[in-house]
Amino acid sequence: MVNAIIFGAPGSGKGTYASRLQSKLGADVIAMGDIFREIMKENTSLGRKVKGYVEKGLLVPDDVVVEVLKQRLTKIPKGKGFILDGYPRNLNQAKALEGLDKIDVIIQLTVPAWIIIERLSARRICKNCGEVYNIRYLKPKVDMICDKCGGPLCQRPDDTPEVIKKRIEVYEQQTQPILQYYKEKNVPFIRFKTESLETTPERAVEEILKGLKKLKLA
Ligand code: ADP
Ligand code: ZN
Repeated sequence: MVNAIIFGAPGSGKGTYASRLQSKLGADVIAMGDIFREIMKENTSLGRKVKGYVEKGLLVPDDVVVEVLKQRLTKIPKGKGFILDGYPRNLNQAKALEGLDKIDVIIQLTVPAWIIIERLSARRICKNCGEVYNIRYLKPKVDMICDKCGGPLCQRPDDTPEVIKKRIEVYEQQTQPILQYYKEKNVPFIRFKTESLETTPERAVEEILKGLKKLKLA
């Protein structure tokens, strides 16, 4: 059983790799962005509030995020681990997590800025199940249709050039500094660096699994 954080900039592949790792690790993925996209579909005051932040590329306030995380953690079956994708995104969230559960490993993804821009602008997600595709490098078998569930693919409203820019800025200012926090706590790291647009998710997942095995976590 392993509790991991998959960590990296927007477009670094967190969601793509986490969804492929979950069956191999017997862990549940907790994808904060997906949870917020579900919440935004509802026309509730919470949905409208969350939307105001996500649309601008800003972080949803910590009190909301931490409450959502707590709820989600209670749904992890006993004896099962989890992979956190998109949490924590600032120091305060990292500290809140400490009171909730232990983290065994940080999977750190590093990707150059030009690849991030290329990937995010060509990214499409399944409207139905959230599976991630890329119209250039990770195409579905049938044009604009999800391989997994047959749902229609669409572009995320926050994958526009201005909002992407804002999200990267928020990542650099608020999220990246958390790495230092976990280093000081001596949490083990697995690092995977993407240097080319041709790097396949299979390659990345294989490398990450190798790292986990070395640490005896897989
Ligand atoms: P990405 O990692 O590609 O930027 P996500 O799907 O993980 O995208 O997140 C989309 C948006 O959801 C973020 O830009 C932010 O507005 C909101 N969000 C997700 N996770 C968090 C979090 N832990 N704290 C605050 N806001 C969050
Ligand atoms: Zn789907």
